[in-house]
Amino acid sequence: MNHVNGTHAPSLESWVESANLADADFPIQNLPFGRFRRPEDSGWCIGVAIGDQVLDLRKAELIDSTDMNRLMRLTSPTRRLMREAISHGLRKDSEQRAKFEAALVPQMDVELGLPCEIRDYTDFYVGIHHATAVGKLFRPDAPLLPNYKYVPIGYHGRASTINVSGHGFHRPMGQLMSPGASHPVMKVSERLDIELELGIFISRPNAQGLPIAIEAAEEHVFGMALFNDWSARDIQAWEYQPLGPFLSKNFASTVSPWVVTMEALAPFRTAFTRPDSDPQPLPYLDSPANREHGAIDVELEVWLQTPAMREAGNPGDCISRSNFAQAAYWTVAQLVAHHTVNGCSLSCGDLFGSGTLSGPKPEQAGSLLELTQGGKQQLQLSNGEQRTFLLDGDTVTLRGFCQREGFRRIGFGECQGTVLPSTNGSKHF
Ligand code: MN
Repeated sequence: MNHVNGTHAPSLESWVESANLADADFPIQNLPFGRFRRPEDSGWCIGVAIGDQVLDLRKAELIDSTDMNRLMRLTSPTRRLMREAISHGLRKDSEQRAKFEAALVPQMDVELGLPCEIRDYTDFYVGIHHATAVGKLFRPDAPLLPNYKYVPIGYHGRASTINVSGHGFHRPMGQLMSPGASHPVMKVSERLDIELELGIFISRPNAQGLPIAIEAAEEHVFGMALFNDWSARDIQAWEYQPLGPFLSKNFASTVSPWVVTMEALAPFRTAFTRPDSDPQPLPYLDSPANREHGAIDVELEVWLQTPAMREAGNPGDCISRSNFAQAAYWTVAQLVAHHTVNGCSLSCGDLFGSGTLSGPKPEQAGSLLELTQGGKQQLQLSNGEQRTFLLDGDTVTLRGFCQREGFRRIGFGECQGTVLPSTNGSKHF
């Protein structure tokens, strides 16, 4: 577990002035990691976001490699030392200012890549309000299945189609079974949806056969980013039984470029509690530290910009606001402990999706499926337009930030993707 230290002091300011603005996502207290490349060369470099700039860690002579996965594997004491070194170099009056200044590049001038080589991808289902709301659409009398409060539910996804923020993806085709129809047809999905999630990046691997105990779980976590698990609800409804989602999910996912480290999140930890009427976690999913500060207080937002809004210069509507700690029935440490309890090995660069993080109120829903009652209710937008599910050209942006009295606000940046028309729409199957 990471503790609050001098790098979190709210009084710290940077000589990078854009980092000192009150609403900056990347003040000196944050220092998230990502990969970038300059237009003139093709290689990815490791950078840390500070204000509207990127600090090139190799040019600042903090590391000698451009391999992010190698950096992520460092032990957490070593990662804490690196955070200290970066923080000191960026502070006002730092003696290393000249060296660090030569290693700065404006974010505007570089391409941001996926934060690391993503190995395997597992998507969980920790949002109990989402699981309940979606369950109600299918099983009004028993929305939550009996295993939900005992097992962190998940499925194995694919890393091959995870994009970094800023990229479009094509609307998928698939088998659709209309209500009342006798057989499915091959069609372009008409119920394309978002899932507001957080991504969890694994740092240190474990050997096959050696589970990670909950007490050690966070030593194996590098940090978190915003994650949109785009979902084709019509494909999902027909294919999901009995083994869970498949082609309805693996056509595209989008992750934000900056990984906010577990060290940076230390001030925003909060108690993990269960209602007295709920079963308490089994012993392998329980620890005093997890109860005391297993949860993380992250505010989340979903923004939708339609093509008409874009043409009018309208930045879009915030269609949902939620919170990770309120939404999640399981903590990050519990997910790591559960994933490995059978001896499954995790690799450095594995990504966990949290599952859709809907809050308890209807307007806090993290998917259009919930916001529109399964497509039955139109979502009214501020310019008079309506949506049930996404149309071609729609851009969805996830945002996230942490704030707490006595600490500096830190942000996650943006996770943005745009729906492009199907590439197969004109073909006949
Ligand atoms: Mn999902």
